[in-house]
Amino acid sequence: MTRELTHFIGGKHVAGTSGRFSDVFDPNTGLVQSRVPLASREETEAAIANAEEAQLAWGAWNPSRRARVLMRFLDLVNAEMDSLARLLSSEHGKTVADAKGDIQRGLEVIEFAAGGPHLLKGEYSTGAGTDIDVYSMRQPLGVVAGITPFNFPAMIPLWKAGPALASGNSFILKPSERDPSVPLRIAELFLEAGLPAGVFNVVNGGKDTVDALLEDPRVKAIGFVGSTPIAQYIYTQAAANGKRAQCFGGAKNHMIVMPDADLDMVADTLIGAGYGAAGERCMAISVAVPVGKATADALVAKLIERVKTVKVGHCLDESADYGPLINQPAVDRVSDYITVGIDEGADLVVDGRDFTLDGYENGFFMGPSLFDNVTADMRIYLEEIFGPVLIIVRADNYEEALRLPSEHEYGNGVSIYTNDGGTARDFAARVNTGMVGVNVPIPVPIAYHSFGGWKRSGFGDLNQHGPDSFRFYTKTKTVTSRWPNGVKDEASFVIPTMG
Ligand code: NAD
Repeated sequence: MTRELTHFIGGKHVAGTSGRFSDVFDPNTGLVQSRVPLASREETEAAIANAEEAQLAWGAWNPSRRARVLMRFLDLVNAEMDSLARLLSSEHGKTVADAKGDIQRGLEVIEFAAGGPHLLKGEYSTGAGTDIDVYSMRQPLGVVAGITPFNFPAMIPLWKAGPALASGNSFILKPSERDPSVPLRIAELFLEAGLPAGVFNVVNGGKDTVDALLEDPRVKAIGFVGSTPIAQYIYTQAAANGKRAQCFGGAKNHMIVMPDADLDMVADTLIGAGYGAAGERCMAISVAVPVGKATADALVAKLIERVKTVKVGHCLDESADYGPLINQPAVDRVSDYITVGIDEGADLVVDGRDFTLDGYENGFFMGPSLFDNVTADMRIYLEEIFGPVLIIVRADNYEEALRLPSEHEYGNGVSIYTNDGGTARDFAARVNTGMVGVNVPIPVPIAYHSFGGWKRSGFGDLNQHGPDSFRFYTKTKTVTSRWPNGVKDEASFVIPTMG
């Protein structure tokens, strides 16, 4: 019998009642390992009602007391890091070492959020006018929701939950239906850490569940991460329903390789950044842009040598560089893109399509593929492939290289490899992209800075984690108060000027 997963509402596992389920696979074997319920509108509304009630008390806790719950949560997760990472790998397919990174990058935002009281202090101006003091306070929004993708089932829910909870909101997580078990375990651990029941609810589901969250007036803000069409849909619907939204989408991250870069270092880095997690990272480098023919020829030769040594294996195989993709449709989509690239005239110099893992012939595995001589008008350049495919677009000079990521519709991350400080500085200032790496391949900002792409990689005006996240999850109330010093003014019909 297939194991049946649940929702987590009001501090308890709750069985789904909609009668609709989605299969959760073991991507190593291709077999269904469990099924997750898809919440109906009524089930989602029940979770919202529960969260709304729980928020009243939680929002009234003092910020330090709330932060202590996050501190206990950190201890609990760290104590079970190994088993949590294995659980994550078993549904996602990334290696256990990579799964630990997924959890760790999430915990770093919880660490940051535990310092939330500092960011919630507000502002105060004494004597803003005669006998007048002005102060601003940050108050929680109430019930907020996070809708998250399959590729970071620990990190992204924690990026959203940490600042949301520290700010005094209750949080409803609608995780990806493809790997929901770690989010459910996170809910249990928050409860164990002392979070009141109902403050972190998990509602599993798909579009109907998301639409119920979008349309319910009790949900005040939506944080989304996933593909661009859905990010734009959620942003639009949230705005139409009067909610705040920060919605992060797809990516096509370039790495510019200048002629003065250390090409061995670049090649090693590109292999990790391009193929790590089977390329299923929003910050994966999927386009390498060597500048000049000599750089390109030398880089391609080094890459071909290294791509052949990449080890694809079972996610629990400690020697594997990466594991299977998430599901068969993902394998089919990536294979189709490889066909498209060949048809468009790009040179497929390494073909990973025929890879199979002995003993796991039905697993969702793909070998690494490498395209050379890709041009900016090809679909394999313009669209996100989200798999183990690295493409090379050759640029004649720096300005041409700079234009590529700047003019691409996505603007998540970009990187430049050079030994010249002036070039790096110019690039960082001028490139039209939200996050920039200088001799760093995957420039995911540290927890106390904010994360967010530009253009069609991000909709909304505040980024994730860092100080922006506390602005997103709180509303500012400003009080202008006067305690007259015995002097009573006549009524005034002129706008007060603080004179
Ligand atoms: P996805 O858009 O398919 O799903 C994301 C979430 O939206 C899931 O919870 C899913 O259930 C829900 N969803 C799916 N279809 C929906 C619909 N029609 N209406 C409402 N909700 C819907 O994305 P995914 O495949 O899980 O994740 C991969 C994508 O996420 C890639 O495009 C990747 O680049 C992107 N991503 C972006 C970032 C970032 O920070 N910019 C980070 C990680 C992943």
